[in-house]
Amino acid sequence: PAALRIRDLRVRYGPGEPWALDGVDLDIAPGRTVAVLGPSGAGKSTLASVLFRFRDPDSGTVELGGADITAHPVDAARAAVAGVPQDPHIFASSLRENLRLARPGCGDDALWDALRRARLAHEVEAMPDGLETEVGSHGTRLSGGMRQRLALARALLAAPRVLVLDEPTAHLDPDTRDAVTADLLAAAEGYSTLLITHDLAGLDRVDEIYVLAEGAVLQHGSHADLLASDG
Ligand code: ADP
Ligand code: ADP
Repeated sequence: PAALRIRDLRVRYGPGEPWALDGVDLDIAPGRTVAVLGPSGAGKSTLASVLFRFRDPDSGTVELGGADITAHPVDAARAAVAGVPQDPHIFASSLRENLRLARPGCGDDALWDALRRARLAHEVEAMPDGLETEVGSHGTRLSGGMRQRLALARALLAAPRVLVLDEPTAHLDPDTRDAVTADLLAAAEGYSTLLITHDLAGLDRVDEIYVLAEGAVLQHGSHADLLASDG
């Protein structure tokens, strides 16, 4: 089955309110990377809140690996969807501790594998005093791009069915957005990934793009398809 399959998803914030999501269909095939692109107010955060089970749909279906997310306990559904938010919470402890929180008891091999995939290992090794001492009590001193890479490494350790990158570079310097997005997408290679974004950074690297506006999918296709249709 699809890693994520959404059909006719409708969500609104109260009776009589406009639909924040108004009949959205979206699929992510296993291992593919799909972007949802849309301006402010399009419904992107609402979509994320459904995937993280902060909000249940008013109607429609959301299936993870063939099973409806609302049919599972909230914790189980959340465990299946790991995310990298705009502003991840990095604990003021070592990088290692920040990673261990994602999978308590997991061995160093898995930690280093996640670091390598998120392209953190190189920088960590380059720190003169090493991981524990240099970053020991300063998880909060990392650069914005490094925080996002760490958040991704943490998400990968959770072995999610679907990985959601929710505007992961929105708070970064515009000059670094493209490079950080590229690193995140490279590290997410092989995972079923949803990139939520309001800008074009990195979209040439995704398999499919859904353009969302006012709660509805306006266009769906490859990067090349959408460029072509823009004339
Ligand atoms: P985006 O993330 O793309 O900016 P949102 O999902 O935040 O879009 O918003 C989609 C629509 O839902 C907008 O019209 C917005 O005003 C409305 N909306 C979002 N959150 C709330 C809320 N908590 N209460 C009422 N309306 C909301
Ligand atoms: P927290 O300390 O609240 O867990 P994190 O930065 O560790 O903060 O958040 C990462 C986790 O939070 C993700 O694995 C995901 O399950 C969840 N999450 C909640 N909302 C979002 C969001 N909008 N985007 C990405 N991840 C989110």
